[in-house]
Amino acid sequence: MKTADETMLTTEDLSRRIEAERTRLRATAGLVNIQQQFKRPVERAFTAAERGKVTILIGGMTWKHDNMFRAVFEGCGYKCETLPVPDVPAFQTGKEFGNNGQCNPTYFTVGCLVQYLQQLEKQGIPRQEIVDNYVFFTAGSCGPCRFGMYEAEYRFALENAGFGGFRVLLFQQDDGIKAASGETGLRFTVDFGMGMLNAMNLGDTLNDIVYQIRPFEVKRGETDSAFEEAGNTLTRMLRERPPFEIIERAPGWARGYLKSHDKFMRFWNSWGKVYENLYGKPYLEALEACRSRIDEVEVDRTRVKPVVKITGEFWASITEGDGNFNMFRFLEREGAQVIVEPVATWVAYLLCQAKAKALHNKQVREHHEKLPLFAYKRKIQRELVFEAKLAGLSIGESMWAYFYHRVGKKLGGLAHKLVDQRELARLAEPFYHRFARGGEGHLEVGKNVYYTVHHKCHMVLALKPFGCMPSSQSDGVQSAVINKFKDMIFLPIETSGEGEVNAHSRVQMALGEAKAKAKAEFETVLQSTGKSLDDIRAYVADHRELRRPFYHVPHREGIAGTAAQFVLHVNDLMNSSSGKRKRSTAPLTTAKVA
Ligand code: SF4
Repeated sequence: MKTADETMLTTEDLSRRIEAERTRLRATAGLVNIQQQFKRPVERAFTAAERGKVTILIGGMTWKHDNMFRAVFEGCGYKCETLPVPDVPAFQTGKEFGNNGQCNPTYFTVGCLVQYLQQLEKQGIPRQEIVDNYVFFTAGSCGPCRFGMYEAEYRFALENAGFGGFRVLLFQQDDGIKAASGETGLRFTVDFGMGMLNAMNLGDTLNDIVYQIRPFEVKRGETDSAFEEAGNTLTRMLRERPPFEIIERAPGWARGYLKSHDKFMRFWNSWGKVYENLYGKPYLEALEACRSRIDEVEVDRTRVKPVVKITGEFWASITEGDGNFNMFRFLEREGAQVIVEPVATWVAYLLCQAKAKALHNKQVREHHEKLPLFAYKRKIQRELVFEAKLAGLSIGESMWAYFYHRVGKKLGGLAHKLVDQRELARLAEPFYHRFARGGEGHLEVGKNVYYTVHHKCHMVLALKPFGCMPSSQSDGVQSAVINKFKDMIFLPIETSGEGEVNAHSRVQMALGEAKAKAKAEFETVLQSTGKSLDDIRAYVADHRELRRPFYHVPHREGIAGTAAQFVLHVNDLMNSSSGKRKRSTAPLTTAKVA
């Protein structure tokens, strides 16, 4: 039997035993041969000297956004090309060269880049020249979903496809405009930053209004031609507008002073650039030209169409190709009107989340680091730091919304307003915690409830890629949401490279219900006016302005359909022109909350 002294362990014994156990556990987990920690590869620099010969590749959004971004790059002196909209062959290429088990936007976007480089090679450009003379710019993130792996995926697939060393540079998603690349080849000047802001807002607005006009166009194809022309006008302006230079605009007597006060000159030059980008004549004239061109399209708003709000994962809900089974075109062919989501919502979400997080962190800190009563100086300091952060974020939020809405107003006033992020978080809160990150976070649930309780649509269609982790989580929650809002028509569709027919037929079935809902709403409204549809149409035929897409139809709460809203308005006009001042009051419906 051992004595107490013999069984007593020294510190060294304990350390030895812990180390032995650690080694055993590592061996069990298969971690014995790992020599070093994985480190993000350092990308070869894109230098200023290469600016004239290296082509920047961009892509992944709608053609409207991509073309605007390209114009800004070109206007700032870069060579730039846009990648095509990813299709099924791109998806298959992505699968061939990428890792297993990725979510499908990875396959589509990675495959699209590889395919593009392969095309260049087929055109006779040597592989090494492609690697040296092209770079790809994309958004990045640190996760928590697989978006954090996109950068690595691009590199992996490019390596496998024989384009090892091809440069993939990132705009870090969470850092907004700050480039993670840190390369001097891409300079973040005021003109570049403001140009990108305009490009984003213009792309979003065009994308929003094209889906509001096309379903009602009288002549088939007229909307697409008008938008193509409008897009060309805007990209030309972004590419060719002369940059503001204070030294060129200042009167002769002030130039000497400006030249001798460099700091002063640079400060006012930057503000001049900001002003010129937002309020300059070329910009405002281009917006007006587009507005007038689009306003020439003739529309017939008496067509009854179910309004389908698109939500879901970021990429799947904005791409306009095989990545979401060409869903928007399909819905329009089936007689629906689509409401798409602007990219600006995502930025508004990030800003609002940052504010909520700052407040949350402050509360946690106050709870865990309680300061004694007499430490008032530190308390004030802490409060000031918090208030400064909050003020910065609030200003950013207001400016973001202001500039977005301003573009919408200048382009005819038809674009939807950004939905208040606080309201989305509040509506989602009973089902989905706002700090559960990844993918669209609580937005999918919040939007579903918002569009239902405010009667902004007849059906919500959530497009989510096969294998998307956050969307699967949110889908689980949506069954609780549907249980609570009985008249909600919600359909989640998993998109992938295959299964288009199946997805379309599921959408068709849900759309049937939405059509019935839209028709019933329209008939109730028409009945409330006491007029026939022929009376309404005859009045519209005599008034050309009512057939313009930018004619402002006042919004009535509780009515989702465009035709129903329009009939109510025309009825008011008819009554007032015939001397009856009576305003029709259609019965307002409310979402049935169980
Ligand atoms: S949100 Fe889903 S589909 Fe998008 S990157 Fe993350 S995991 Fe993939």
